[in-house]
Amino acid sequence: MHGIHHVTAIAGNPNANLRFYVRGLGLRLVKNTVNFDDPETYHFYFGDQRGSPGTILTFFPWEHAAPGRNGIGLAETTAFRIPLRSIGYWIQRLVELGVTHEALGERFGEKVLAFRDPDGTSLALVGVAEAEEEEGWSGGGVPAEHAIRGLHGVTLMLDDAGPTGAILADILGFREIGRDARHVRFKAESPVGGIVDIRVAKGFLPGRLGRGSVHHVAFRAADEDEQARMVRKLVENDHLLTTEQKDRKYFRSVYFHEPGGVLFEIATEAPGFTVDEPLDRLGSSLKLPDFLDSRRQELESVLPPLEMPG
Ligand code: ZN
Repeated sequence: MHGIHHVTAIAGNPNANLRFYVRGLGLRLVKNTVNFDDPETYHFYFGDQRGSPGTILTFFPWEHAAPGRNGIGLAETTAFRIPLRSIGYWIQRLVELGVTHEALGERFGEKVLAFRDPDGTSLALVGVAEAEEEEGWSGGGVPAEHAIRGLHGVTLMLDDAGPTGAILADILGFREIGRDARHVRFKAESPVGGIVDIRVAKGFLPGRLGRGSVHHVAFRAADEDEQARMVRKLVENDHLLTTEQKDRKYFRSVYFHEPGGVLFEIATEAPGFTVDEPLDRLGSSLKLPDFLDSRRQELESVLPPLEMPG
């Protein structure tokens, strides 16, 4: 099934990040590992009970990262799905958490509650009637009936919707389903993680990566064969080169900058997060890929100590 696989963003303090997403938003920490390309930094994966594709938001917490700036060429907002009748619960919960939120808005007929995490990351909760039937993780303190059901989608801020829309439609399994004054909406068949909105903001400042900004958006490939077909099409039809395939332990990935400037990833669904720890223990201890295991002691001494939020 096509759609978003995960979104990866940049945080500041790792413990504040853990507290907000586990205690505040009630997501499950499904993997505590390090950034494979920068192993002195953590890499946290938050998601549903098993970290299903489409439910995953991940962070590189860089304690001293300068604040980023949203703008052209970056993913601006990451939205989660909640049941429509849970909007009131979440407004109340954000107030109790001391998180300021914007007035309840609407986009393409859906109710949108926009707010920010402690690093300024732009987030939203989108009320969807069908989400009531979907499963949510209730181990984090949010009752199952109100729990986040995974990602709803992302909003990309771009100069022009055309070239990026073509990649979404030709390669990544999305189709355009609507336009309003500021957005073009694309949808994939997966209900979870199925939306990409392009906000056309011609002439706006370019974005700058930093704390509170989205580093990349990953899309789903069913398996390595489909990923290879997508890579071939990108080269042949769009003259876009991807990186070589990287083994991310929990999935296999390739990366490329789409024509609007956003870093895209194509990630396989397998093997998933139970490849190195059992389902009931996901996220409970620091996991390292084989090539870093010999450095475990050294890395544990430089990584900041974590207070696990239960
Ligand atoms: Zn990624």
